[in-house]
Amino acid sequence: MAASVGQLSSQLVSLPCAKLESKNCQRSYEKLLSGPFFRGSVPLVCKQLTTFSPQLQVWKHSPKRRMMTTCSAAVTTGSESALAPKVDFKKLQNGSDIRGVAMEGVDGEPVTLTEPVTEAIAAGFAGWLLQKKSVSEGFVKLKISIGHDSRLTAKSLQAAAARGIAGTGLDVVLYGLASTPAMFNSTITQEHDLLCPVDGAIMLTASHLPFNRNGLKFFTSAGGLGKTDISDILNRASKIYESMSVQTRESSQAAAEAVVKEVDYMERYTQDLVEAVRKGAGGIERPLEGLHIVVDAGNGAGGFFAGKVLKPLGAVTTGSQFLEPDGMFPNHIPNPEDKRAMEAIRKAVLEQKADLGIIFDTDVDRSAAVDSSGRELNRNRLIALMAAIVLEEHPGTTVVTDSVTSDGLTTFIEKKLGGKHHRFKRGYKNVIDEGIRLNQVGEECHLAIETSGHGALKENRWLDDGAYTMVKLLIKLAAAKAAGEGKGSEVLSNLIGELKEADFASELRFKINQDHPDLGSGSFKEYGEQVMQNLEQLVESDSALQKAPVNYEGVRVSGFGGWFLLRLSLHDPVLPLNIEAPSKEAAAKLAQAVLSAVEGFAALDISPLQKFFASVS
Ligand SMILES: [Zn+2]
Repeated sequence: MAASVGQLSSQLVSLPCAKLESKNCQRSYEKLLSGPFFRGSVPLVCKQLTTFSPQLQVWKHSPKRRMMTTCSAAVTTGSESALAPKVDFKKLQNGSDIRGVAMEGVDGEPVTLTEPVTEAIAAGFAGWLLQKKSVSEGFVKLKISIGHDSRLTAKSLQAAAARGIAGTGLDVVLYGLASTPAMFNSTITQEHDLLCPVDGAIMLTASHLPFNRNGLKFFTSAGGLGKTDISDILNRASKIYESMSVQTRESSQAAAEAVVKEVDYMERYTQDLVEAVRKGAGGIERPLEGLHIVVDAGNGAGGFFAGKVLKPLGAVTTGSQFLEPDGMFPNHIPNPEDKRAMEAIRKAVLEQKADLGIIFDTDVDRSAAVDSSGRELNRNRLIALMAAIVLEEHPGTTVVTDSVTSDGLTTFIEKKLGGKHHRFKRGYKNVIDEGIRLNQVGEECHLAIETSGHGALKENRWLDDGAYTMVKLLIKLAAAKAAGEGKGSEVLSNLIGELKEADFASELRFKINQDHPDLGSGSFKEYGEQVMQNLEQLVESDSALQKAPVNYEGVRVSGFGGWFLLRLSLHDPVLPLNIEAPSKEAAAKLAQAVLSAVEGFAALDISPLQKFFASVS
């Protein structure tokens, strides 16, 4: 089916359209439209504006109020000046993702990811892909799929990305509301009717970040793109953006109208998840029959999991919450590391007396669970649980994690499960790539997982997939049920019964003031490294402290029955400090060691340490 691609002014109408995907949202949108701000202001026919003027009024969303505003950033056609703002494309890079401010609504955060910028970035990706493919496969007409999460700017940026790709002569397939892992999957799926496999995929998401942000993630069948590729794409995008004109954008628009198609790929992706559980459970059609599982999608893109995965497998999903996409995220941040989010799903499980709770982040590459007793299965516990499952299947295998995992987790993986814990760096891409690298150099590894809830399995092509992580738990649950073992999620809780957890855990963040004279002519990175060198020397001269023998990030030290890790943030002028200890007293002793190493650095804001001492004394 040919899809209608929004006109160049689509950003202006897409905000409400993004919300029209749910009936509830449609009702609240209609109510708002008939309100005093909207009466007669924006003429809207389906997804198209009937009239266009260069200065249009658009929605201005703020978490507390909704009002009308004139948004110059949304003006994307009508004059050459629309493309005039200089854009520093490099600033849009966030490791292996692209992130920016996509709409107004937060003071001091000007829009950086406009429609033309997004169009240029998508064209940059298309150019990058063409170069890659033409080298290895000769000329073919390439296809790129685009999906998005529940953000308010999703539809407008989707239309912009489609124009960018079509303008370079490639085909475009739109998936609409989708998950990040589904987008990667579309580069692997073999199904002609769905126009799969596609050669490249774009996911429009800013994961758990606030409502005004958005971003892009890119995939090929080789996986997610890395930092170097993202820099390359942004370089290309910058040049494309400079040469853009109303004429070039009109021809991209015409190209998009000719080649853009829509397919329901999520139907196929969710079917794959359902089949994976059925197969893992021994071929039973409804292996979750009799189990009550609640899902909390945080109004992100993960609502499908209740109706399209759990229900066909026989589970009762009553009490599932926040399944409707809503880019204002009115209930809680969709983030399994967030305390409020975890409390919300915990409460739902206990109230419903459910067997299990499942929570996703906005774009479903991260997840966590809650057992029937209300115990949160996230962070170290989720890693321990996944390690227990994977090590039953692959005895002795290595588990790669990020750097802030606990000493208790290492003991659990190595002493209880007989595996090897390879504690690596922060950053999901770093963790996954390390898992892949270990296999390449002959060390068997089947699981790479971060405390944030990003997890990838070798059996799932190292795809970073929060939904698949939950599939692994469901298979375990279904198998236990079929064997008549335990009640509800007991089988999962029992698997990590011997995981030792610290009674005290804290993360402090020391900011580096980049304007402070103490930095001299050096960068904040160099300054942070000096801080860490100083700490290292101090630790070496203190017999109560032991530096971790193998360590890939920051300075990790054990002592007083606990441990701490001081590291430099991946992107910001911040030194995060993680402390875990068996008691407050032991934590204070560890913090004291850090204090003596950092107090001489005048550009470092160590006030969090002072507050910490006050809280533990
Ligand atoms: Zn995410």
